[in-house]
Amino acid sequence: MISPQSIQQIQSRIDIIDIIGEFLKLKKRGVNYIGNCPFHGEKTPSFTVSPTKEIFKCFGCGKSGNAITFLMEHEKISYVEALRWLAKRYNVDIEETQVTDEVRQQQQAADSLYILNQFAKDWFQAQLWNTEEGQHIALSYLEERGFSHENIRKFQIGYNPQGGQAFAKAAAAEQFTPEVLLKAGLVNDRNQQLNDNYRGRIIFPIVANNGKIVGFGARVIGKADKAPKYINTPENDIYHKSRVLYGLYQARLAIDRFK
Ligand code: ZN
Repeated sequence: MISPQSIQQIQSRIDIIDIIGEFLKLKKRGVNYIGNCPFHGEKTPSFTVSPTKEIFKCFGCGKSGNAITFLMEHEKISYVEALRWLAKRYNVDIEETQVTDEVRQQQQAADSLYILNQFAKDWFQAQLWNTEEGQHIALSYLEERGFSHENIRKFQIGYNPQGGQAFAKAAAAEQFTPEVLLKAGLVNDRNQQLNDNYRGRIIFPIVANNGKIVGFGARVIGKADKAPKYINTPENDIYHKSRVLYGLYQARLAIDRFK
């Protein structure tokens, strides 16, 4: 990782006119500079760069940002790549900080949960739309409850079949380990066998602000007798109830439609 000191050093050197001027012709107009916007086709310039505010804004397409976001969008590169580009340009020696093993392990644990949740979401959706059980039991139930197909897709709602191990088997076939499956709360371990935790339930993915799926809400179909009406993902490396209010809010919106 690039050290915060290096990032600061790079940022202090940035001259936005110099950077953007590298990619398009800028003309001075008053305190600002203008040019033809590189993000949308135009013949009269509406792309404005302010050297004092260190930002750009296009009055044609609305795109705006600073020198770094300009580089990222224009050159289709990441934030770190943009920093490296600038460091080279301004002869700044980048100081790298070591990522500790602990941090790396946490990142790997989180990544595997995200990958699993993404797989689970797609699989649950496929069960809902493409299987007879899903269509007859879950889709028809959602339709009865007034969910449009558009909303079912928008909320990425899915279905976990009744079988008991359908998901566990599908996930195992994709090489997901029992450890990550248990951590994600998608299965439980009874009699040394992995069983679907959400069998026979409608599944609502919980989406965080970054668009990643951090967990699921699962609701029984019809009346719950002994089983709880809703089950949520347990707290884990990526699912912290307090931090995914937006996702919970979205899931709630969908779930509330049931009441
Ligand atoms: Zn534009």
